[in-house]
Amino acid sequence: MSDHAKNQKPATITAQALGWVDDATKSVTPPLYPSTTFERNTDLSYHDGRCYTRADNPTYDQACQVLSTLEGGSETRLFASGMAAAVACLHALSPGDHIVAPKVMYWALRSFMLDSGVRAGLSFDFVDNADIADWDKHIVAGKTKLVWLETPANPDWQITDIAAVTELAHKAGAQVVVDNTVATPLLTRPIEFGADIVMHSATKYLNGHSDVLAGSLTTASDGEYWQRVCKQHASGGAVLGVFETWLLLRGMRTLSIRVERASANAMAIAKHFENHPEVEQVQYPGLVSHAGHDIAVKQMTGGFGGMLSIRVKGGEKRAVDFHNRCKLFKRATSLGGVESLIEHRSSVEGPTSPVPGDLLRLSVGIEDADDLVNDLETALRLSK
Ligand SMILES: *Cc1c(COP(=O)(O)O)cnc(C)c1O
Repeated sequence: MSDHAKNQKPATITAQALGWVDDATKSVTPPLYPSTTFERNTDLSYHDGRCYTRADNPTYDQACQVLSTLEGGSETRLFASGMAAAVACLHALSPGDHIVAPKVMYWALRSFMLDSGVRAGLSFDFVDNADIADWDKHIVAGKTKLVWLETPANPDWQITDIAAVTELAHKAGAQVVVDNTVATPLLTRPIEFGADIVMHSATKYLNGHSDVLAGSLTTASDGEYWQRVCKQHASGGAVLGVFETWLLLRGMRTLSIRVERASANAMAIAKHFENHPEVEQVQYPGLVSHAGHDIAVKQMTGGFGGMLSIRVKGGEKRAVDFHNRCKLFKRATSLGGVESLIEHRSSVEGPTSPVPGDLLRLSVGIEDADDLVNDLETALRLSK
């Protein structure tokens, strides 16, 4: 992989996976190294420093370099899931450490923070994602060790000003991790705005085909906190399997056209339903009516992503009936795949969810935009 790759545009980096060609065979896709162990040299050193797959495997190299290059970071680690990556960031903290995170964010992680995080002696404050004064109030110098951001955030797609919150966090001596799953590095590169670590559920857009569970962390630079995260990775053992790594790299090769199409489709749907008589509200950062639109314009380039939510008139019952009548949109959780999904989010999150019952979360795929709009329009018209 040559240095000129650093200046390539994301579409080139992903399509060519940094232009790697195998020295031995000249194959343009990489081989898999399923070996879990590597022979030691007679002087007790290791060839290439590799000893055991839980710590390292050559299959990881290319996928990690692609991600590091896309995010503008120095090093990437792959995890068995997005949650495993996020949890490694929490496990790298110490009892008594304080974390500030959004009130509305990826639900399973917020639940983990409140359950296992609190039992591990961590303390949390949850703030209004879009309200910089709220972040300022709760990020406390000398006390706050980690600031967790998710933007656009599940499932109302509020936007956090990464640069502004990062400045507050760094003044207070805290690390900033950004969950960049929804935006992808095609639309937002948090490290450019000062973030320390970027996290992905690579299960979503990075792989893009709803057939691999994976997570990643990319750091802006090496440091004490990152070293503790790496220790969690190698010793904690929630690493990605080599076959999944190979599939993830294959998926990432089409990331740029998938994100482009999903963003265009989501925008078409958002615009169609924005002033619809049967719709209460469309939540999509690409709409001028969205509270976070101005900041989204500042920190997202090339589109606003494939995720939006629709709040229908008629409450929860109508919302459920509407989603039951969709044919192209499949009723399923998750996001970032080539196929469109629709989800009644509050019933998935349970009684303590902050999500209103009339809200449906849409993961817009790469199908034809008119077909998608027609599917939703027909289902909405028939719903009661
Ligand atoms: C899915 C998701 C996660 C969790 O990732 P898994 O791969 O399912 O463990 C975290 N954050 C966001 C925004 C997600 O969509």
